[in-house]
Formats: sequence, structure tokens, C-alpha cells
Amino acid sequence: MYSNIMIRLTPQKLTELVAERGLKMTPQRRAIVECLAATRVHPTADEVFMDVNRRFPMTSRATVYNTLNLLIDAELVNIIEESGVKRFDPNLEPHHHFICSTCGMVEDVEATDRLETTMLNTGGHQVESMQITLRGTCALCFEVKND
Ligand SMILES: [Zn+2]
Ligand SMILES: [Zn+2]
Repeated sequence: MYSNIMIRLTPQKLTELVAERGLKMTPQRRAIVECLAATRVHPTADEVFMDVNRRFPMTSRATVYNTLNLLIDAELVNIIEESGVKRFDPNLEPHHHFICSTCGMVEDVEATDRLETTMLNTGGHQVESMQITLRGTCALCFEVKND
């Protein structure tokens, strides 16, 4: 249902969603989405919470967690689970991830159509999507290590 459109979470999408669910769009909810929409680092729930609290110091953890759950439920954000830590990804286009084994940063890697599932032996299963996780040392950590 999402194919071939530029898909990224926007405040507009959340506004529609909360209206649909009979909820109110609050400045805190908007701040949560703005934080997610602006980030490229795949924040954890706590990182979203801290970011929103800088702007709205009275925001409760429950508000942040509930809003994140709402977004996941509506498939407006994806979850990446890495070493038991859940991270949130507002980029809904098919893409891959690079994960730094030193600092844990998760970065998007653009999917190219040159990578074909026909390269893989899927044992006769019908593949509908593919996500590759690349692991290594990020540019920053690499620089530090080689200083
Ligand atoms: Zn790193
Ligand atoms: Zn991503």
C-alpha cells in the first residue's frame, strides 16, 4: 500500500491519525513527530523523550511512549531492534541499515535495485521485502581509532 511514494513521517500524518482515533493533536505529540521526522539517527524512546522534554519540560514518559505506540500501530514508524534496544525509524521507504559496532549508531543505507533477492537461496519462499544490516566501524569511530 506504500509502494513507490516518498514516505516519511510528517506532523500532517500524525494529525490525521489522531483525528481518526478520536484523539487530540497536542503540542507534545507534534514535538514527538517533529523530533522523529527531523532525525537520521534512529532514536530510542528515551532519546525522543529527552528531546521533547527540552521543548516541553512537562511532557510525561507515558505521553511519549503512548504516542510512539500509536505511530507503530499505524505503521507510521518502524522499529529496529539492536542488541535488545528498540530504535524508531520514520523512514518508511525500503532501505538498509549500517550499524556501528563501537558507538551503536544506526544510519540508513539507500536500497539500490541492483541488490536482488534472486541472489539469495530462499528455499522456495516468496520474498516480499528485504532489509540488510551492515555492521562495522562508522567513519567517526574509525577516525578516532586511527588517530
Ligand atoms: Zn561509531
Ligand atoms: Zn532507517
